[in-house]
Amino acid sequence: MRRTFGLTLLVALTLTIIVRVGGQQARGAPRTGEKAPAATPSAEARGVQIGALGGGVPRAGEKAPAATPTSREPEARRGGGVTDQARGGVAPRAGERWWSHIEALANDAMAGRNTGSPEHKRAAEYVATHFANAALEPAGAGGSYIQPVKLITRRIVEAQSSLALVRDGKTEPLSFVDANVSMRVDPAPSVDAPLVFVGYGLNVPEQNINDFQGLNLKGAIVVHISATPRSLPGPLQAHFGSAAERWKMYKAAGAIGTVSIANPKNMDIPWARSTLSRTQSQMALADASLDETGGQQISVTMNPARAETLFAGSGHTFAEQLALVDAGKPVPGFALPSRLKATIRAERGEVESQNVAGILRGSDPKRRDEFVVLSAHLDHLGVADAPINGDRVYNGAMDNASGVAALIEIAARLHDAGTKPARSILFVAVTGEEKGLLGSRYFASHPTVRRSAIVANVNTDMFLPLFPLKTLMVLGLDESDLGQDIRAVAKDEGVAVQTDPEPQRNRFVRSDQYSFIREGIPALAMKVGYEEHSPEAEIAHKWTAERYHAVSDDLSQPVDLSAGDKYIDIVRAVSVRIANRTDRPQWNESSFFKRFAKGATH
Ligand SMILES: [Zn+2]
Repeated sequence: MRRTFGLTLLVALTLTIIVRVGGQQARGAPRTGEKAPAATPSAEARGVQIGALGGGVPRAGEKAPAATPTSREPEARRGGGVTDQARGGVAPRAGERWWSHIEALANDAMAGRNTGSPEHKRAAEYVATHFANAALEPAGAGGSYIQPVKLITRRIVEAQSSLALVRDGKTEPLSFVDANVSMRVDPAPSVDAPLVFVGYGLNVPEQNINDFQGLNLKGAIVVHISATPRSLPGPLQAHFGSAAERWKMYKAAGAIGTVSIANPKNMDIPWARSTLSRTQSQMALADASLDETGGQQISVTMNPARAETLFAGSGHTFAEQLALVDAGKPVPGFALPSRLKATIRAERGEVESQNVAGILRGSDPKRRDEFVVLSAHLDHLGVADAPINGDRVYNGAMDNASGVAALIEIAARLHDAGTKPARSILFVAVTGEEKGLLGSRYFASHPTVRRSAIVANVNTDMFLPLFPLKTLMVLGLDESDLGQDIRAVAKDEGVAVQTDPEPQRNRFVRSDQYSFIREGIPALAMKVGYEEHSPEAEIAHKWTAERYHAVSDDLSQPVDLSAGDKYIDIVRAVSVRIANRTDRPQWNESSFFKRFAKGATH
C-alpha cells in the first residue's frame, strides 16, 4: 500500500517535471474536474497522438472513474502512472510511442480484447495499420495482414449443471465456486467415476518417474496436485506439468478425467480472482487435428482451501500431501473412497478471431525466404460478468498490449533505420493466448510461410517493465544456441541475463513460444528480470499478486518507460542478429526440446 502511494506521489512529481523540463507536448495532469483527453477508437485507427499520455493522477483515496464497456466511452486518461526513473524525468520519445500503442490497445473501449470479439478485431486492425506504416509486407491470408482463426466456444450453464462427491452412499455437492469445470475440455453430459489420487501425477519413464505405480486408473478420474518434482530440470517441469502432456499420460493409463488441485504455493492468481472467470466462454481450435483433450470427459480445477473434502475417509489429508510437495519429497498415490458425479450442461458456439502477420523482407538472396518470427499475443480476457471494485474491463495493458506495442515499435524502428537483415523478420500478433495458446498453435501448425523456413521464434508476453532493466530474464536461455545471441546482445546493452528464477511457475510453456517449440523451432522468451529477494522481486511479486489477470492491469499503473525502451531495443537487436546469422539456429544437444525438431522431415 505504501509503495503504491509513494509511487503515485512520485508520478505527480515526475509529470510536473516533464511539463517544465521536457518542453515537448504539454501533458500535465488535468486540474480537478477537467476531463483528460481521450483517444476515440477511430482516432486510434489513425494512430494515437502522444499528447494523450499521462492524464489525471487520482488523489489519494480517490477512485478513478471507469467507463462501462457497454457505453463504448473511451477510458478517461486517469492513469498518468508513467515514471521514467532512469532518465531524470525526461521520457524517451521511443518509450512514449510504445506507450501510446498500449493506450490505444488497452483503453476501456477495447473491452479487454477478448478472443473473437469485435474489439479484438479492431485491435487486430490497429496492429495491421501500424505494420503497414512500417512497410511490412502483408503475411496473413489472401494478401492481407490478417490470418483468420476459427474457434469453438463453450460455456458452462451452472444453473443446469451439478458436481458432487459420492461417499458411503451419501452425496455431497461440490460448489462450482470451489471446483471449476474447465470448458477447454469438451465435457461429457454426465460422468460418474472413482477418484484416484496420483500425487504429482507424472509418468515419465526417461526420468524414472512413475506416480501411477500400483494404481488402477482404468475408468478413473485422476486427482493430482498441480506441482512437479524438483528433481526435474525447470523446462521439463514446465513441459511435463502442462495439461496436454498430463492428459497423454492419464489417457494412456485408461483414465477418463482429471481433478487438478491448485498448489497454494504456486498460485499466480488468488483463487477468489481466478474463479470469477469460470463462467466465461472458453475456447478450442475448430481444427480437430489440433485437439489435445480427446477422450477427456471432465476436467476440474479444485480450490486448495477446499481440497480436504476429496481426502475425507481416505486415512490421509491434503495437508500431508502438500507438506511432502513443499519438502520436495515423493508423493505416493492411493485410491480415494469416493466417486465424482457430474452433470454438465454446456452452451456451444463458434467464433472467428485474428492473427496479424507482416514481413520485413530480408536482403540476402538465399536467406530472405527464411524467417525469424517475433510474436506477442494480442488477446486478453475481455469483460468480467460483474464489476470488481467498480470496474469490469480486463484492460490487459501489461498482458499483453505491452508486448504487441513492442512489436509495432520494433517494426517502426527497423523501418526508420532502413535496416535490411539477411533473413526476413516475420511479425505475428497472435490471438487466443489466454484461451490456451490457440492462435500461436494455429499459426505454428498452419504458418502463412513454409514452416520449415521458420528458423527461430522470439516471443514477448507481459515483460513487465516495472523498474529499470538491469537483468534480462530469458526463458529458453540454455536450450538452444539462440542463448549465445541473446547473451551477446545483452552484453552490448550492458544488462545481465538470467534463466527463469521460478521454474515451478512453468513460464516456459505458458506462452506462445511453446507453440513454436513444439514444431521444432528454437525459441526464446524474455522479460525484465530481477534477483530473488531484491526490492525489484518484491515489486514484481506484488504486481503478480495484485494486477495479474485483474481489472487493475490497466493504463493507470506505474510503468518504467526506460525499461520498455531498452527491452524493445534488445528484442530488435537480437532479431536482427539472428536474421543475420550465417547458420541456422540449433537446439543444444543437451536440450530436452531438441526432440521436437523435425530434422530430416523438413
Ligand atoms: Zn495472461
